Amino acid sequence: MSDDYTITKVRGLMALDSRGNPTVKAIAETYGGGRGTALAPSGASRGGKEVVELRDGGRKWGGKGVSLAIARLNHVVAPKIEGLDSRMQGYIDQVLEIVDGRGDFSFIGGNVATAVSVAVAKAAADTAGLELFEYLGAPGRVVLPTPLLNIINGGVHAGNELDIQEFMIIPVGADTFLDAIRLAVEVYHILKSFLKEKYGPLSVNVGDEGGFAPPMKKTREALEAILQSIRRAGYQPGTDLLLGIDAAGDQLLSDDGVYAVDGLKLTPGELVDYYVSLSDEYPIAYIEDPFAEADVDHFFELTSRLSGKALIVGDDLYCTNPDVLRGLARRQPTNAALLKVNQVGTLSRAIEYAQEAHRLGMAVIVSHRSGDTEDPFIADLAVALSTGLIKTGAPARGERTSKYNRLLEIEYVAGGSAAYAGPRPFPALS
Ligand code: PGA
Ligand code: ZN
Repeated sequence: MSDDYTITKVRGLMALDSRGNPTVKAIAETYGGGRGTALAPSGASRGGKEVVELRDGGRKWGGKGVSLAIARLNHVVAPKIEGLDSRMQGYIDQVLEIVDGRGDFSFIGGNVATAVSVAVAKAAADTAGLELFEYLGAPGRVVLPTPLLNIINGGVHAGNELDIQEFMIIPVGADTFLDAIRLAVEVYHILKSFLKEKYGPLSVNVGDEGGFAPPMKKTREALEAILQSIRRAGYQPGTDLLLGIDAAGDQLLSDDGVYAVDGLKLTPGELVDYYVSLSDEYPIAYIEDPFAEADVDHFFELTSRLSGKALIVGDDLYCTNPDVLRGLARRQPTNAALLKVNQVGTLSRAIEYAQEAHRLGMAVIVSHRSGDTEDPFIADLAVALSTGLIKTGAPARGERTSKYNRLLEIEYVAGGSAAYAGPRPFPALS
């Protein structure tokens, strides 16, 4: 028997991501006229425990085609999802796992699972006449997340020589999300002029996440440029804006077990000291993936040394997998956990991960991927989960601004019941 929430149709088609690679778009429709469209993002510095993105291989699209994934969506997944109640997110996500049958989405594709899972939630929200953040969240106060804006790109996201992948600014000295974005945008533009002056016009070419990719070699050079720009913009580093880095530790590790940073070869123990001295010198409140994902002991060591001062964040360490998080919970190697839905493949598993992390007293940061799309669903997800934190690139490039623009819209829609998280998620300021 059909009611308004019954899924009448699920279809997939190809779309392009922000790097010009094919990705999966899913469209779900309900009997009551609800419709949800979702696009799968795609990472470059992917964790070893991520679910599998299904790609065609071969010559077309440089091997990155998704025609097999789309075919499996339309002919294998859709028949099992059509006829189900779109509100039964947990059950639908389990069906996706069962249809896959491999435990890593290598048959139907993690890109298919992600797009279908999110499209179903959007179709249910649309059927209910609710905003996605309202549908997924609990009623009550709407917390607008503090954004982490990656304004200098390095590592595998840029063609420069910076080893650290991301240098972020965190506008905490604001009362509203709108004001926070204004602070960040002002600093971003001043950084642009600063880089042009110092390194020439080519230095303001942007990397995959919209941050500048200047011809710098050293971590401190990038941090210094950002610090100067914050001051030039008339703000106080450490009070108005904090700094963050994502080292993408797996990418720094060389075959001989040492980490290559700033022209140095550091043992894991030396790398701990390196981060501690950076955090003594700069107002760094956020360090993501400081080590390779297998190096749990050094995550733990750094967290013990800096936990009152900074969020030490596991990205590739956990890969948004609640079982991995639970497995490491006894040691709790970090005090924060990054959440990317497509690392685990379904909304339900990602939500379970956020709940588990919160239960363990960890901060949760909802995150984009370096290959992303115009789909803003992570903005709604961050609000629904009340994480108080979102990481979604520079305030530039449409696939990044779509998230910021959606958060501005949510702040507007929520009106008086909206609150900006500001400094609260950060240990040294909360
Ligand atoms: P990715 O990078 O999307 O390329 O994995 C983002 C990150 O490491 O946080
Ligand atoms: Zn990361």
